[in-house]
Amino acid sequence: MLDVIIIGAGPAGNLAALNIAKAGFSVEVYDWRTKIGDKLCTGIIGHSCFKEFPPAENDIYRSSSSANIVSPSGKTYLINHRNPQAYVINRISYVKSFADKAIQLGAIYRLNEKVISIDISDSKVSVISETKAGNHTANCKAVIIATGFGSPLLKMAGLGNGGHKNFLTGCQTTVSTDGLSRPTVFLGSNIGRGSFGWLVPTQNNEALLGLATSRKLNGDMDNLTKLLKSKGYYNKIESPQRKWGIPVKPSTPTYSQRALSIGDAAGLTKPTTGGGIYYSLLSGQLAAKTLIQALNQGDLSSKQLKPYESEWKKILNNEIKLGNIARGIFESLRDSQIDFLISKLMTDDVRKDVLEATGVSFDWHGRIINSAFMHSVFGKYLSLVTPELEEKSADIKSKGPIEVA
Ligand SMILES: Cc1cc2nc3c(=O)[nH]c(=O)nc-3n(C[C@H](O)[C@H](O)[C@H](O)COP(=O)(O)OP(=O)(O)OC[C@H]3O[C@@H](n4cnc5c(N)ncnc54)[C@H](O)[C@@H]3O)c2cc1C
Repeated sequence: MLDVIIIGAGPAGNLAALNIAKAGFSVEVYDWRTKIGDKLCTGIIGHSCFKEFPPAENDIYRSSSSANIVSPSGKTYLINHRNPQAYVINRISYVKSFADKAIQLGAIYRLNEKVISIDISDSKVSVISETKAGNHTANCKAVIIATGFGSPLLKMAGLGNGGHKNFLTGCQTTVSTDGLSRPTVFLGSNIGRGSFGWLVPTQNNEALLGLATSRKLNGDMDNLTKLLKSKGYYNKIESPQRKWGIPVKPSTPTYSQRALSIGDAAGLTKPTTGGGIYYSLLSGQLAAKTLIQALNQGDLSSKQLKPYESEWKKILNNEIKLGNIARGIFESLRDSQIDFLISKLMTDDVRKDVLEATGVSFDWHGRIINSAFMHSVFGKYLSLVTPELEEKSADIKSKGPIEVA
């Protein structure tokens, strides 16, 4: 019998496979895709992710120490840091690099195989997948669900899937440009209330144009592409629009007897932007650590696997809660309120204190949210904007200043 089966060869599943194989346990990874890592994504990672899980030099399209924000009324603001805050990477190659290392250590990848059923008993986990030759059954001691957004397998494994009711829809296309110098974020109801759009330069005069929204798309992406075309941001659309879900609330429990969920399957992303590569890697690493201990002790009970959830909560829970409060506030704002707040946020003093301060990180938004609300000047503007904000900002302030992780 195999030690571990991992379902999903994204960043979460591959890093877990790598660490489990490194510890000497047998591991098989299933993915219905034929190309590892080829899932809709912009491929931006922050500096902490870059340091902890460094991409190969060839996989980095560019680093970015600045970004533009375009307000609903069309005014462009520049955020500038001394050092790179984010990196645009070749996501397919980056995600595959973890799988390549896992394979070198003995992990077996079963691509083009969709897992359709999981059955957990006291003595084993049975996993059934669809192959060209018919259904295949494999037995293992424990399973990791790393299937990304929205999978029926979570329920079969006795794991939470509630987070998937709270999600953003991300939609993206590739465009050709005359060369963009930095990522640009677009805000405003002309691309959908509560949505934000982006244009992220990659390589060879190409950029990824996308948007994320918590509502139905309803033509928002078409509006954004038309708007940006009319303003000369890009020349030509180079690929069809694709869309995919991004959970913004954790799906607990993320552990049960012989099973763990990680990454997007566990609902672990930054609710502010929907970025999930870093949290997927962190949770893949933590899950592997807990599972290795459990395998060594020969005890795969849910009690033995619980430390995994306690550990990711210690690192991510506050961030995710703050991120969701900030997202709720953002979604409730009218264009005029967003314009007002951005104009105040971008005044030299506030911008330096909140967005460009030492320790501000693209990976840890809680610190930015917290210092915005605690700021002696900007905090007052935030509380002024709507009466409901008073209560939410009290929530944030009650958490006190956040240390950078
Ligand atoms: C438009 C868009 C842009 C994004 N941009 C960014 C960004 O710039 N930066 C960032 O950090 N995050 C971004 N994200 C989020 C990021 O892509 C995810 O958080 C991340 O990929 C999650 O990794 P994962 O390993 O948990 O799951 P995934 O990467 O989704 O991998 C899950 C894998 O499981 C496989 N699978 C699913 N079900 C089965 C099954 N039954 N059997 C076999 N295989 C199965 C899938 O084929 C897939 O390969 C973006 C998301 C979207 C939608």
